[in-house]
Amino acid sequence: MPDLLQAPRRSTVLGLPIHLLSDYPGWLLSQAKHSSGAHVVTLNAEMAMQAEKTPNLAAVIRSAELVIPDGAGVVLYLRLRGQKVQRCPGIELAEALLRQMPLLGTEGTVFFYGGAPGVAQSAADRLQYRIPGLKIAGVQHGYLSEEERSQLDETLRRLQPRLILVGLGVPRQELWIAEHRYLCPDSIWIGVGGSFDIWSGKKTRAPGWLANNHLEWVYRLYQEPWRWRRMLALPKFALRALTDAR
Ligand code: UDP
Repeated sequence: MPDLLQAPRRSTVLGLPIHLLSDYPGWLLSQAKHSSGAHVVTLNAEMAMQAEKTPNLAAVIRSAELVIPDGAGVVLYLRLRGQKVQRCPGIELAEALLRQMPLLGTEGTVFFYGGAPGVAQSAADRLQYRIPGLKIAGVQHGYLSEEERSQLDETLRRLQPRLILVGLGVPRQELWIAEHRYLCPDSIWIGVGGSFDIWSGKKTRAPGWLANNHLEWVYRLYQEPWRWRRMLALPKFALRALTDAR
């Protein structure tokens, strides 16, 4: 029996919820078909550590309808506690949903928000080419003035896109979604981090052999060396995974 329409099984990572499903895109598509809105959080070690110091972020993660195991660290944490879990990178979940949105017909529209000027548009153009029938209702970069931000609210209210991908980085995107999801209560909202940079071709993902060996972070550090300070959270998380009471 597929997971569709069943409440996802829940576990916890550093006290935060995580949902365990075998088919995340299928579950979300089913939500979308029933016009049930959802906030999807893609949990990784860095975000889990950040949530410990940022109560607002922890509260938003706790209230999200779906929290997926985005990072290798989170998967390791759960496996050490005897949980059977498959990693589901947020970018792959978002891409699977983009492929399935045309199944909703004229209703299956999507909206991209975030990234440097031009990046989300270029991602949209490339995805439009790769995914026949994809209906992109609108695109907005992530460096808006106050006035432009109010215009964006109005645009979202008017368009009611079924899938809204927000790439503003953590925790900005999670907090922004929590604050604005009332504008489109029936939509699926996902914080996608730097996914527009990848889809546009501006950056590349780690090669499969690194990702398969839980070493995607090495590639990230190589591509974005200025992240080193943020990435100090990773060994701290690993230590917690090994030592916290089970
Ligand atoms: N970004 C944005 N507006 C901002 C700050 C960041 O649109 O005010 C975008 C930035 O251009 C990049 C993404 O947010 O595309 C953050 O990507 P990153 O890979 O750092 O995400 P994270 O690791 O935080 O998920």
